[in-house]
Amino acid sequence: MTPLRLFIIGILLFILYRLLVGPKKKRMGGKKKGGVSSGGAIQDVLVEDPVCHTYIPKGQAVQLHHDKKKYYFCSDKCCETFLKQKGDKE
Ligand SMILES: [Zn+2]
Repeated sequence: MTPLRLFIIGILLFILYRLLVGPKKKRMGGKKKGGVSSGGAIQDVLVEDPVCHTYIPKGQAVQLHHDKKKYYFCSDKCCETFLKQKGDKE
């Protein structure tokens, strides 16, 4: 076995894995800020945090219902910040 062969086999396995897992979802237009790129295969729908404008997978986001709207945050901290900002305006 040459290293090149191992490399090719690795790629083939990767492609096979991709086929099994399913087609890759379309990427969001390059507006994403760094941070959420762990290369995990499980990618949820990305939602934007209105406070720090980070994109987080919906499944991992902190959800908040406010004014009949749904908001998603990267953390509880951003959620609190958001509520404080809303509170200041009124
Ligand atoms: Zn945030």
